[in-house]
Amino acid sequence: MNDLTANTKFQEGLHLLKHPLLPLVRIVQLLYLTGPFERVAPILDELIEPIETATATYDKPGELLRPFLPELEMMEPLKHPAPPTYRILAENLEELDQFEAMELMICQQVITKELEQINSLLCGTCGCTLCCVGPTADMGHDFFEIPLSAPETALFALARIDNDDSRKLTANSEKVLQVNDTPFYQNQPALYHWQQGWSLILPKKSRCPNLDAASGGCMIYPQRPGVCRKPQIFPYALERAAEHDRIEDDHDLAAYIGRGKLLAVWDCPYVRELKDEIATYAELCGLEPVFKENKA
Ligand code: SF4
Ligand code: SF4
Repeated sequence: MNDLTANTKFQEGLHLLKHPLLPLVRIVQLLYLTGPFERVAPILDELIEPIETATATYDKPGELLRPFLPELEMMEPLKHPAPPTYRILAENLEELDQFEAMELMICQQVITKELEQINSLLCGTCGCTLCCVGPTADMGHDFFEIPLSAPETALFALARIDNDDSRKLTANSEKVLQVNDTPFYQNQPALYHWQQGWSLILPKKSRCPNLDAASGGCMIYPQRPGVCRKPQIFPYALERAAEHDRIEDDHDLAAYIGRGKLLAVWDCPYVRELKDEIATYAELCGLEPVFKENKA
């Protein structure tokens, strides 16, 4: 991580991390609720002057927010009632009112989108391959598992293990699946069809076949599976709680529980490097920062 601060992309990611959009989103919310605006888009047209907050200056706020218009438009039902599509519960399972629920939903969606870009800028410059290799010899794990959808398995030129035994077990079942008369994780990387679906198993000291040995980059980057796109800093403002879904007036309401947190995976080198900046980012977004280990 030594030369990272000199890297342009890293600096770009860091700049975005230091300029979270949520404080601007709150300004738009206030203008929408207290102003004469029927829709959100015209507010963005008017935000042409720089906005200064206690920690950052945003030069072209309207332009910065434009890609987030679909998320911002989620506040329009406050003025133009529409059947709800979700419900949000507090941790004590009491239902939040429409405004609180809307604020949390917009927070989750704006931060998810914003962090996708930030994570991609920061990761691309680290020269790190931790997400694409099996455990090192000194790690307590025997393997890492990368869950895949059935179509995603076509991205990997690997052997497939799909039999009655594998379909009765998971990678973490107490009874260990045997392959070639040894525990499955003592074999080469392979695709396994478990009880709950497919996954790629990377045993100790192995690597994903799509990892380019020379560059350390992913050879199928634009097509990489969904799980490989998951960022190492991500919002946990809401947690999906399908068991509380409901149908109201013939409309399906997807349920969530408000958690109000921002999670960051401590194994990731840029998370460790930017711990203070991530904590400040979370606070500016009104979330509690939580650092957790994943693969230790
Ligand atoms: S598919 Fe690409 S991003 Fe995913 S584990 Fe393999 S090399 Fe890494
Ligand atoms: S641990 Fe972090 S830096 Fe390393 S590959 Fe994963 S996301 Fe990128």
